[in-house]
Amino acid sequence: MAHVHIIGGGLAGLSAAVELAGSGVRVSIYEAGPACGGRARSYVDRHLGVRIDNGNHLLLSANEAAFRYLGLTGAHDTLTGPGTPTFPFVDLGSGGRWTLDLSRGRLPFWALSSRRRVPGMRLWEFAALKRLMDARGDTTVAECLAPGALSERLLEPFAISALNTLCEDASAALLGGVIRESLAKGGRACVPWFAREGLSESFVDPALAHLAVMKAEVHVNCRVSALEIAGGRALGFVAGGERVVLGPDDRVVVAVPPWVARTLLAGSVPGFTAPDAFEAIVNAHFRLEDAQRLSGSMARAGFAGVIGGMTEWVFVRGDVVSVTVSAANRYAEWDTDALEARIWHEVRAVLDPVLERPLPAAPGAARIVREKRATFAATPAQERLRPTARTALANLVLAGDWTATGLPCTIEGAIRSGVSAVRVLRADEMA
Ligand SMILES: Cc1cc2nc3c(=O)[nH]c(=O)nc-3n(C[C@H](O)[C@H](O)[C@H](O)COP(=O)(O)OP(=O)(O)OC[C@H]3O[C@@H](n4cnc5c(N)ncnc54)[C@H](O)[C@@H]3O)c2cc1C
Repeated sequence: MAHVHIIGGGLAGLSAAVELAGSGVRVSIYEAGPACGGRARSYVDRHLGVRIDNGNHLLLSANEAAFRYLGLTGAHDTLTGPGTPTFPFVDLGSGGRWTLDLSRGRLPFWALSSRRRVPGMRLWEFAALKRLMDARGDTTVAECLAPGALSERLLEPFAISALNTLCEDASAALLGGVIRESLAKGGRACVPWFAREGLSESFVDPALAHLAVMKAEVHVNCRVSALEIAGGRALGFVAGGERVVLGPDDRVVVAVPPWVARTLLAGSVPGFTAPDAFEAIVNAHFRLEDAQRLSGSMARAGFAGVIGGMTEWVFVRGDVVSVTVSAANRYAEWDTDALEARIWHEVRAVLDPVLERPLPAAPGAARIVREKRATFAATPAQERLRPTARTALANLVLAGDWTATGLPCTIEGAIRSGVSAVRVLRADEMA
């Protein structure tokens, strides 16, 4: 390999670049936007007057590829969290509050303790976990769940967060894979982490600094508008209006979202498929008058899971409260004011009991961010459209959270896909 051209500077593209940089191969990234990071980025919101993330991102300690990437880029200590597998929850319907406190090992001792488990759960409900891990084909998550507190208060919220798709539609096999890598391994694999300052400060800026030291080139505001393909190879592409010609030893990693990959590759790459149905995520950010101290397990965690409302997660960072609403296509008709009012109402119910002073009846500065194509819809049908990293072209591979990683669209999936793409390039070179 002489020169690897990476199209797309999201986490998949950055991961591929980090994997290659320093190995003697020339590396160039072409990113359409003004900054790298794609769907995991931070920016200054002028209305709020603070830097925010496009959406709250939660990682689990099971996300090995993500932690390896943070280690390679020197960003390991930029994450924060409770340091234990602890998840505060609030049920808006019943007003109940509890803290799920998983035992570190594989044996779920936590389920035997009324102070640590999901209130009202029964031990036989654990059978749903086995059904999910054994699931294949078209089985949906809902078909594996049984009515009961464990499903309603843990497995459903976990599934919606992990897959960003309602349980009635979501692939049970995909969730089974997540469970095998997290819950089934015990609490040690389920410690929650999130970016202390912001997503870019953890996942983008340190990687770019590392790439600069390794002499990789990063071109921003540089959209790739066409790929020239003939004779089973990519011959060149147009980046930022300029034609780039590929030499015989050059390779291309296409790390753009699926709808862009489709426009660049469909019709020219035999057998190319990509997911084509998407789910939104809504994030609401509220700036408080000043930072307030939290009490109880929320103070330790910095976030809480919420059930029985529109809100799924509430994060508190200084004077900013951020809310995640997953599988949000169902709220597409809601206008911004209605979303803001409803979410603020729920935030007050979640936070007032654990704050020093109650929140005001109306929010101060607020920002609703709708990511309409946050992830592909994690249904069995969409799952079948995910391609492998290797394509029918000898010198072009794919990366991205939508490729066949075995994981839903997540930071871990995106970073793993970049590593897999590089592995395919290296394996082909050895062959
Ligand atoms: C609101 C929200 C919340 C999320 N929450 C979580 C979470 O809690 N935990 C978790 O693990 N994951 C979460 N995710 C998912 C995670 O952000 C994504 O899986 C991951 O960022 C995808 O990275 P990627 O590189 O595959 O794709 P992208 O981030 O989409 O990167 C693709 C890049 O290609 C660029 N590009 C597009 N077209 C071109 C072109 N023609 N030429 C050059 N460049 C181009 C884009 O600008 C972009 O930078 C969330 C996502 C969203 C949107």
